[in-house]
Amino acid sequence: MTAKLVDGVAVAAKIRSELKERASRLTAAGEQPGLAVIMVGNNAASAVYVRNKIRACHEVGIRSSRFDFPADVDPAEVLTRIQALNADPAVHGILVQLPLPPHFPIPLLLQAISAEKDVDGFHLYNVGGLVIGDTVFPPCTPYGVVKLLEHEGVEIEGKNVVVVGASNIVGKPMALMLMQREATVCICHAKTRDLAQFTILADILVVAAGKPNLIVPQMVKTGAVVIDVGINRLPDGKLVGDVDFAGVSQKASLITPVPGGVGPMTITMLLANTIGSAERRLAGANRSAA
Ligand code: NAP
Repeated sequence: MTAKLVDGVAVAAKIRSELKERASRLTAAGEQPGLAVIMVGNNAASAVYVRNKIRACHEVGIRSSRFDFPADVDPAEVLTRIQALNADPAVHGILVQLPLPPHFPIPLLLQAISAEKDVDGFHLYNVGGLVIGDTVFPPCTPYGVVKLLEHEGVEIEGKNVVVVGASNIVGKPMALMLMQREATVCICHAKTRDLAQFTILADILVVAAGKPNLIVPQMVKTGAVVIDVGINRLPDGKLVGDVDFAGVSQKASLITPVPGGVGPMTITMLLANTIGSAERRLAGANRSAA
């Protein structure tokens, strides 16, 4: 079997063109969507991500603003900025680019963002919403994976899903979202004993561990759908996922490449969350006026 390749770039482009139309309708109604991005320090990878997010906003018609702070800034100063953005009606989404310098109280900052503008979905209110299946802002990377599965017509209900990786931003929300769609979900992590005995059962295998070649063909059921969230830079500069792509694509029925699979979807879902937030604001304003 040779797997069908999921073209994340094409799916993201299709979704972005729909988002552009929604943004333009909002702007015409006087509610141009706005995203504020806070960056602390000068982590090179973060700088690239922030640049890409700002560019993507521009492409679909979201107004973006960027607030840069030096690595040794007093966290209180960043908190003050977050509070000002919470109160700013032109801002529908606020994100703090992670990671932050070690002296930063990350949970405190994330909880300071208004739950109504928490487009990354990291606020406890939104995390709780995810648990009960009613979140306002699904976290962008797992949300992107769900959209890819939907786009490819992959049935989720009743399937055995194994999620490898249990981080707060990818693995755990991914598992919750798929459980909400009535899959039978198993989560594996670094302490899982004999990973293969779990992965081999997966109809849908989602891997987000940050370990190149963690998943080899013997660990994958024939015909499985394999979603590789991992992004790893090898010493020779090559970008790879967590899955032995060449080997596993001979066994899977559907597979995402790295790059060009899940990656392009993450920023797209950030745009979707920001536009959704502006739509809710406009609907609220219209209701109050009626
Ligand atoms: P993370 O916070 O480092 O979490 C990694 C998770 O993988 C942890 O739960 C860890 O287990 C688990 N893990 C590590 N080694 C393992 C192993 N040998 N077997 C099984 N599980 C193992 O990373 P993250 O932020 O979730 O990101 C994961 C990967 O996705 C990274 O490569 C990252 O670059 C990539 N990523 C991609 C996108 C995208 O847009 N495509 C977005 C975000 C992240 P423990 O909990 O036991 O430590």
